[in-house]
Amino acid sequence: MMRCVVQGCPGRMEQRRIVHTFMRQGKPILVEDLPAWVCPVCGYTVLDIHVLDELFALDPENETPVGQAPVFRLSVSPA
Ligand SMILES: [Zn+2]
Repeated sequence: MMRCVVQGCPGRMEQRRIVHTFMRQGKPILVEDLPAWVCPVCGYTVLDIHVLDELFALDPENETPVGQAPVFRLSVSPA
C-alpha cells in the first residue's frame, strides 16, 4: 500500500472514484467517476499519470458530455 506523502500524516492511500472539476477557457468542466488515490485521513488526492494524460487530452468542445451540472456561487466571505 502507498503511504500518504503529506508530512506527519499516518494515512495510507486508497483507490477511489472522485469528481474532478477544472476550468477550460473560463468555463467549469466536471469529470465524474475518475479513478484516483485518496488519503482517508487528510484528503490528499493523487492521479495516476495515465489518468492525467487522459484528462489533459479531454477536449470538451469535441466530446459529448454524459450530463449537465448546475453552477452556483455563494455570497460568503473568508472567515
Ligand atoms: Zn494524508
